Parts: sequence; structure tokens; C-alpha cells
Amino acid sequence: MSATATVVPHWIAGAADESAARWGEVTDSATGEVSARVPLASAADVDRAVRAAAEAARGWAATSLSRRTAVMFAFRQLVHEHRDELARIVTREHGKVLSDAAGEVQRGLEVVDFACGIAHLLKGEMTPQVSGGIDSYSLRQPLGVMAGITPFNFPVMVPMWMFPIAIAAGNAFVLKPSEQDPSASLLLARLFAQAGLPEGVLTVVNGDREAVNALLSHPQIAGVSFVGSTPIARHVYETASAHGKRVQALGGAKNHAVVLPDADLDLAADGLVSAAYGSAGQRCMAVSVAVAVGDVGDRLVEAVRTRLEDLTTGPGTDPASQMGPLVSSAHRARVAELVDSGEAEGAQVLVDGRGLTVDGHDGGHWLGPTLLDRVRPGMRVYDEEIFGPVLVVVRAESYPEALQLVNANPYGNGAAIFTRDGGAARQFEQDVVAGMVGVNVPIPVPMAYHSFGGWKHSLFGDLHVHGPDGVRFNTRGKVVTRRWPNPADRGIDLGFPVLS
Ligand code: NAD
Repeated sequence: MSATATVVPHWIAGAADESAARWGEVTDSATGEVSARVPLASAADVDRAVRAAAEAARGWAATSLSRRTAVMFAFRQLVHEHRDELARIVTREHGKVLSDAAGEVQRGLEVVDFACGIAHLLKGEMTPQVSGGIDSYSLRQPLGVMAGITPFNFPVMVPMWMFPIAIAAGNAFVLKPSEQDPSASLLLARLFAQAGLPEGVLTVVNGDREAVNALLSHPQIAGVSFVGSTPIARHVYETASAHGKRVQALGGAKNHAVVLPDADLDLAADGLVSAAYGSAGQRCMAVSVAVAVGDVGDRLVEAVRTRLEDLTTGPGTDPASQMGPLVSSAHRARVAELVDSGEAEGAQVLVDGRGLTVDGHDGGHWLGPTLLDRVRPGMRVYDEEIFGPVLVVVRAESYPEALQLVNANPYGNGAAIFTRDGGAARQFEQDVVAGMVGVNVPIPVPMAYHSFGGWKHSLFGDLHVHGPDGVRFNTRGKVVTRRWPNPADRGIDLGFPVLS
């Protein structure tokens, strides 16, 4: 363990808390050194945290919208002031390069911007005089305590997809961040407290499956937002639903980019390289499969291959690095093993990152950009999510064959098409079975005021995160039908109410 290893505590009832039945270790991905220890909450720790949150939720729901909005604006300002610090934490624990980490903080802030407008978003509808002297109107009310369980790959942005909207809407929120890079969540909780958020409204419990399972069955948790891999998303959806909670569980991905023969080849190759290798491929919206249609295949593969010769992989803190390490040695070993399997199953390894070393960083979790051609369904590199800097290329004879391939894949997070043909692009928008679609845009991540979510095995539940769906998920609707007594209307009528 490095001499500077610290403890990343929980944040419960507005204070740091180091209770732990067990401990985990957080590593610096570029050196492999342990940089911090993290307490792993027991079910009893989770219960204590949720009870404090439930207590806080009542007061927060009753707090005026103007007060809640003022706290949100103050939080926004503090995150702006600490954006570099947040990015540095992300780079150290996750490994992504600093500019990429800064981008993730920005995307998280955009959800806070959206949540600052909550007063407008919570407005109900009013219909006067639905019947004689009777008005109807709708309300959106908070649910109580919402929980969020987040993955390692966006330690700032994904929690911020969730808690700003949940809290702005009047809920308390319990966050269980990834135990692999938990420090950013702690800083966000401290900043929110500094902004004036009452204690207990935002809680952070660190932990692993024990903490998650305690949240999924806790009677005082009303709803669960999850982002992570598909098997765990399915488990979270099934378990939390069985305990009567509303759930949105976003899972893994295998995002395809279809490149038609008429595409702008340089634009397509630049887009594929940026989207496949940014963040070392550890993005749920990374393009991991290129589908080359017709005679574009050899030209496309060559254009991607030559671009990879110029990519620099190194520590995320070095401004010269374009790609950092993978998050852990175990994850690096899994990605390398998948590339081995692709080679053994007949894929052509055109660029091989398995042997990469970085001077002075022997312990880092390095794997350089890797390009596999002639990949087919049935190979593990096609069938499984790799979540590393590996782009696989599948050849298709025609647009219908390419579409069939994309739609037959069990994942449906994002899909993109590269073409100059507006008609073909429009057809793809209509036909593709995926939640987010890019046209000459490789990573079609919606802005905060739209909602983010995939289809098929990339999302269990119905509502997507942030944007309008985020407001719906974090509130429940109520319709009031109201009459003020008018002495002229008195009298008993046992008939079913109809027009009057
Ligand atoms: P993961 O599923 O291993 O972990 C996610 C969360 O679940 C973590 O907080 C972890 O502590 C918890 N967890 C892990 N195992 C568990 C278990 N057995 N029981 C209960 N909880 C458990 O995911 P990860 O490796 O941290 O993140 C990468 C995955 O997340 C990839 O599959 C990626 O595609 C996916 N992801 C999806 C989206 C999306 O929007 N669809 C966004 C980001 C990441």
C-alpha cells in the first residue's frame, strides 16, 4: 500500500463514517498501487444509513421549491469550482486521461443545470370546471428515499445522472458507488452539504454486493436506479421489483456502428477510433463493433489501423496520453483473455495491444489499442461485452444484412450509422432496435434534458435516466378532484357521477 493511502468513508446523516465489517482497496490504475481503503458496509450499516435518509426525506419534501432550488444552484457553483479536483480523482482511481475526466464532470454538471429548473418540471396540469363547480389538477410528489447503485466507469457522471433530479424533486437519495473508485462520490456529498443540503438528504454508503442486496430489500427504499453490467442489472431489477420498488436498471452494451459504402471514410474512421478507444473502451456507449458494408471493408479497416499507429497510451495525468490504463489488473486480464479467444477462433488481429508496457509504470493496467477483423457472431469477442480498447470489425454484404446483425444482438444501448444518404439514415433510425441512435455521430449520448437509456438487455425497467423520464421516475403522480361547498348543491345522489 502507498504511504499516502487514505480511507474513503461513508457519508451518513451529514457526516463521515468509517464503520466497516470488511474493507476494500482502491488502486491507482496507472501504477497499480493501493491509494485508499474503503469500508464495505454491512446490512446493518445500510439500515442505519437508510433510516437517517428516511428521517431527512420528510423535512426535505416539505421544504419549499425555492429553497430546494437555491441549494441546487449553490451545489452547481461548488462543483464548478471543484471540477479540476474531481477530474484528478477520477483519473487516479479510474485511469482515464484528465481531459476525458473533465468531460465527464461537465456531463454530470449538465444534469445539475437541468435539475436547477425543477420548479418548472414539477408543474402539474389544471382543468377548471370538469363538472359543475368541480376542478381537477395533477401533482407530482416525491417518493421518499431513492437509491442509486453505480458502476466504475463514470464515477462522477453516472451518480450525477441520478441524485440531482431525485433530490431536486424532494426525495432523499442513498448512493452506493463503485467500490473501485468511490472517492469522487464522497467529495460530491461534501460539496452538497456545503451548499446547504440538510443532513441525511444525500447519503453515500460504500460497499459491494452485501450493501447492494441490503438496499434492494430495505422497506424504506422506494425506488432503485442502477447502472452496471447486464447480469447485475437483471438481478437488481428482479430483486428490487419483488420487494415492491420501482426500478430502472441499465445494463451492458455492444454498440454497433454501421458504415455504408458512401460514408465519408475519414469522418467514419475518426469517429470509430474516438468512440472505440476513448476511456480505453470503458464506456457504455463505446463503439465496440464496426459493421463494414459492401466494398468499404478494406478501406475502412486500413483507415482505422493507420490512425491507431499514432495513438499514445500512458498515464492519464500526462497531457500527451490519449488513452489511459484499464481500471484493474483483473479487468485487464479479462480483456486480454478475450482477445486471445478471438485469435483462437479465427479473427485477424491487425493491431495487438496485449504486449504494451509504459516506461516507469510497470504496475499499471496497460492494454494498448487492439483491432480485430473478420469477426463473426458466435466468437466470444462478438458475443460478449469486452469493455476494453478493442474494436472488432464484422463484414456485411448489404444494409439489410448489417441491420439484421445489429437487431439480433441481445444488447440495444446505442447504434450508429455512417452514410451520406439521408434516406438510408432515416430508414436506420426507424428500423434499428436500440435506445439511442447516432447518424454520423458515433456516441449518441443524449443531453441532460433528454433521457438516456437502451433497449433489450441494456435496460430492465421502462423509464430512462435524467431528462423528462428522470423526473417521472423520481416522482409519483396524483390527481385531485376538488369542489368547494355551495349550499345550493347539497343533497344525496347515489348515482354514478356523470355530466352536470
Ligand atoms: P458491475 O455490474 O460489476 O457493478 C455495478 C455496481 O453493482 C457496482 O456498484 C457494484 O458494487 C455492484 N455489484 C457488482 N456485483 C454485484 C452483485 N453480484 N450483486 C449486487 N451488486 C453488485 O459493473 P462495473 O464493472 O462497475 O461497470 C461496467 C459495466 O457497466 C459495463 O457492463 C457497462 O456496459 C455498464 N454500464 C452501462 C451503462 C448504461 O448506461 N447502460 C453506463 C455505464 C456502465
